[in-house]
Amino acid sequence: MGPGHFAIAFAAKSTAPKPPLWVLLLATEVLDLLSYAFQALGIEDFGITTSDLQHGVQVLVPATIPWSHGLFMSIVWSLLAAGIAYLVWRDRQAGMIVGLALFSHWVLDFIVHLPDLPLLFSGSPRVGLGLWGSGAGLVISGVLEIVLLAAGTIIYLATRKRKPEKEAV
Ligand SMILES: [Zn+2]
Repeated sequence: MGPGHFAIAFAAKSTAPKPPLWVLLLATEVLDLLSYAFQALGIEDFGITTSDLQHGVQVLVPATIPWSHGLFMSIVWSLLAAGIAYLVWRDRQAGMIVGLALFSHWVLDFIVHLPDLPLLFSGSPRVGLGLWGSGAGLVISGVLEIVLLAAGTIIYLATRKRKPEKEAV
């Protein structure tokens, strides 16, 4: 999934006064940033996919992304981020929301990805509901991203309006 992840950050900001918006935006993209880093280090491999509106996303060479997108490691990264946020803002809610924002990335990827998200590490069962694995599904997931982003932005702006001075980014 692409910009849909940011929707979670915008929506989450209303429940987390302390962490700035950019921290929440960053949190929702941590798993992808890790996957770029791990790919550069040769630990992970994106595989090869094609996508067109007739067939959706098709996997030619499956991805190997256990360290960035495995369920287990995603939980580890989320807990780590929650711990860091808690230490920075001395606030349980801040820690919880940052951790959840990070983990939301995995949940959204789980919905759209073809089964390439390992539960543990390489060789463990891989999951993914594969919404974008058909032409119609690819369109639906694109629409879903836009709807999510719009909804998240509206929630964010509505909350900002209510408490303008406290919610400054
Ligand atoms: Zn991802």
